[in-house]
Amino acid sequence: MKCKVCKNQIHQIIDFGPMPIANGFVANISKDKYRFDLSLNFCPKCYMVQIGEVVKPTLMFNDQYHFLSSTSQSMEKHFKDVAGEIIKRIKGKNDPLVVEIGSNDGIMLKHIAAKRIRQLGIEPSGNVAAMSRKYGVVAIEKFFNQETAREIVKKYGKANVVFGANVICHIENINAVFEGISIVLKEDGVFFFEELRVLLDCFGHGEKRVILYCCAEPRNLSRSLPRAFGDIQNQVL
Ligand SMILES: [Zn+2]
Repeated sequence: MKCKVCKNQIHQIIDFGPMPIANGFVANISKDKYRFDLSLNFCPKCYMVQIGEVVKPTLMFNDQYHFLSSTSQSMEKHFKDVAGEIIKRIKGKNDPLVVEIGSNDGIMLKHIAAKRIRQLGIEPSGNVAAMSRKYGVVAIEKFFNQETAREIVKKYGKANVVFGANVICHIENINAVFEGISIVLKEDGVFFFEELRVLLDCFGHGEKRVILYCCAEPRNLSRSLPRAFGDIQNQVL
């Protein structure tokens, strides 16, 4: 099996065998026939840790998506703080634009919208995108890639900030995502992303992420980008 980032051969660490989709909550287990082979693998070249078989994105992210960010009080506080940090970063910019990949129910962008700053959420799950619109979030129901990035630039212009929390790791074609971010960001724009880093902790909870990170690996993702990675911060939520 090949690495999803650098195409090198990957090595299996653990094989959990066939598993149902995380957060599926099916009413009738005998009718839920879908299983995917859940294995954890390591790339010795770029150090990315990743799952083997990848679930088709539309099977997970659709109009019945069950994970609502705003049900967690600690996440509510955290994303309010994130919005505050972003607002500080764009202070003084002329008509700035903040784009979030995977904006869920608007937990972060609603704070940007409340300040009447232009914002745009990219959220393929229609049910949660609809919830975010109640807070004034502008949400488009799409997966993020180069094509979506070009559409955004055409319609809204380039972004001062692109943000994504626990989302980049869900996307198999990570190179397409970073290419898309390069298209959307202004020359002096900033991309923030947050991921869980504790490998077995997050893998043990019925994993739906494709790629898991530690501090070293994001630097390997940046090689194809014209911009450099900046800070890495550890956060406890
Ligand atoms: Zn690799």
